[in-house]
Amino acid sequence: MTRQQIGAWRVIWRDTTAITGNGLNTQWICRCQCGTVRSIRGDILRQAASMSCGCMDRLQAMKYESKVRDDEQYDWVWSE
Ligand SMILES: [Zn+2]
Repeated sequence: MTRQQIGAWRVIWRDTTAITGNGLNTQWICRCQCGTVRSIRGDILRQAASMSCGCMDRLQAMKYESKVRDDEQYDWVWSE
């Protein structure tokens, strides 16, 4: 699945140095959109359980916060 894009991750190549236990879980070297490189298990990628190194989570949190702020402002306008 080289060159696949999963969330912010782009699969670069198979991690041949990783110990995969039963051999079912291939590890893949992935690069996040922010530049972070990490080795991620194939089953985690397939389930899209990891969509980024964490930078996307921060982005989501920021979006949520701005939405909350927008809602507060909306309420404030209508309570005038
Ligand atoms: Zn990232």
